[in-house]
Parts: sequence; structure tokens; C-alpha cells
Amino acid sequence: DNKRKVGIVGSGLIGGSWAMLFTAAGFKVYMYDIDDKLVADALKDIQRQLQNLEKIGMLRGSDAADVQFSGISGGTSLEECVRGSVYVQECVPEQLSLKRKVFEQLDAVLDDATIVASSTSTMVPSTFMSGLKHAQNCLVSHPVNPPYFVPAVEIVPSPWTSEAVVSKTEDIMTEIGQEPIVFKKEHPGFGLNRIQYSILNECYHLIKDGVLSADGVDKLMKFGLGPRYAWMGPLETAVLNAEGMRSYLERYSHIMHSVSADLKGPADWSLPAAEPIIQQLDQLFPLDKLKERRQWRDERLIAFAALRDQM
Ligand code: NAD
Repeated sequence: DNKRKVGIVGSGLIGGSWAMLFTAAGFKVYMYDIDDKLVADALKDIQRQLQNLEKIGMLRGSDAADVQFSGISGGTSLEECVRGSVYVQECVPEQLSLKRKVFEQLDAVLDDATIVASSTSTMVPSTFMSGLKHAQNCLVSHPVNPPYFVPAVEIVPSPWTSEAVVSKTEDIMTEIGQEPIVFKKEHPGFGLNRIQYSILNECYHLIKDGVLSADGVDKLMKFGLGPRYAWMGPLETAVLNAEGMRSYLERYSHIMHSVSADLKGPADWSLPAAEPIIQQLDQLFPLDKLKERRQWRDERLIAFAALRDQM
């Protein structure tokens, strides 16, 4: 058949999500892992998820769940995974030595026409893509969990990635319905985690300094910044809160300055320093109820994605 092919390397949580996104968009998918049992279990899980999404009316793409599922195959041949693929998404565990090893294995079987993207959340691409024969074809495409309902993908080139590969990756992400955010260069934490950690650091200080409870901090986000940021970024939010950014800064820059000068910077997240925060959170969100709570979260993300599709 004339479907384009993609390869997925690693059939865990993120590998399975990518497989579902690609098959929904009409790609043929080969999912590779180091053990046949892992691949078989992953396929079973994907089938169950696709059927469930179809049942609740949230299946992506226009094909039925069983048709989408038939577009995914898998096994333990890296060569077969890569051969003829326009794009390969690496999804192995987050360890630098393993990423390096897998990229070297991929480099040995790659040809010039195939792009290879890493799902890494935290590692800048140059730390495991240096010296590869096909370094110009390699980059990071960092998804946000769960990718089926949270569309952002950070596209981060290494110093050697070609511009054509970056723009082709951007096109592929758009084609499968994700929202690519293209970085001009690599940067520690990329963008999402830099912003996320700045928020977490300030939450920590508000609690540790006895200003707010953990519940109070979460409420501020849930009922304050969260709803604002659900549809807009922080910059557009500022623009709309005044008559444009110039006017926002004329009004508020001195306040931004004095509050920012008081921020405490990196928090001490080590144990036991973070113990008081952990204790509050364990009370608010009992550890034996996290499974139900995750289910609750996923249902809300699904409802939110549906709402976004309507707008
Ligand atoms: P996971 O543990 O669920 O899956 C990893 C898979 O890789 C397993 O199936 C494992 O068998 C397989 N694997 C191990 N060694 C391998 C090898 N040598 N070759 C091929 N496959 C191998 O992990 P995950 O949560 O899916 O994370 C995968 C990547 O995605 C990581 O880099 C992670 O940082 C990134 N990521 C994770 C999330 C998240 O929320 N879980 C979000 C964004 C990005």
C-alpha cells in the first residue's frame, strides 16, 4: 500500500501514544522494543485504548478503531523499524547512556531520507547526537503527557540538525494534529520545563515561608492563572490586561520589578528539606487514591480537549 511509514523505538507509555497519533493520521506504524512480549503487551494495550476512545467518541482520525489498530505492527527488528520510514520516534527510558547507545544503533541502519526524533524530556540533543553519521537528520520532538490530549511538541534541533529536517518534522507534527513549537537552538530544560520549574520553585517558597498552604497554592493556579492560561499564553494575557504590552509595562513594570527582585530562585528540593511540602501533599492526595485521581484527571483532559476542538 502507499501509506507512509513511521518507526517507534520503545513501546512504553510514550511510544504507545505516538503509535496511536500516527495511525490516526493514516501512517503505517512499526513499533520496536527489545522483547517480543513487551511489543505484544503494548499492542494489546493500544487496541484496548483505541476501542475505548471510539466508545467515548474521542477517537482521532476518520478510520474506525479496528482499522487504525491494523495499521500498527511491531517486533524486535530495528532494521525493519527504520527501513522505508519517513520518520522514527525514539521513546526509550530517560538515561543518557541508553539514548546514546540507541542513537548509535539507529545511525548504523539509517539512510539519508529518514528523520530520527527523540522523545527526551530533559536531555539536550548534543549530549547524545554528537559524532553520528546522520546527525543532520536527528533532533528532539518532546511530547507532553498524555500526548493524545495535550498537543504541544517541543521541536529542539542539535547544533548539527539541518533546517530541512526541522521544518519537515514541524510539518509531520502538524499533520498528525499536534502543535509543534520550534526552538532556534537547544537549551537546558527546553522551554516547558523551564517554565514549569520556575512555577514549582515559587510554589515551594510560598509554602516553606509559611505564606500559603499547599492547598492554597494549588487553588491559586486552578482558579486563577490556570483558567487564564488555558486558552492564551502569559504574554497575550498581559497584552489583553492593558492596552497592549507598552501600556501593560507603563502600568506594571515597577511592580513586576519589585516583586521579581524578591523571588527566591531555585528551591531546595532535596530530602529532608522538602519534607513539610511532601507531608501536606500526602494528606491532600492520599497515595492509595492516586489511581482514581489519575482517572479523574484523564477524564477532565479529554473533556477539555473536546471543548478546545469545538472552539
Ligand atoms: P517507559 O518506561 O514507559 O517506556 C520505555 C520503553 O523503552 C519500554 O517499553 C522499554 O522496554 C523500552 N526499551 C528499553 N530499552 C530499550 C532499547 N534499548 N531499545 C528499544 N526500547 C527499549 O518510558 P516512557 O514514559 O514511555 O518514556 C520514554 C521517553 O519519553 C523518555 O525519554 C521520557 O523522558 C520521555 N517522555 C516521557 C513523558 C511521560 O510523561 N512519561 C512525557 C514526555 C516525554
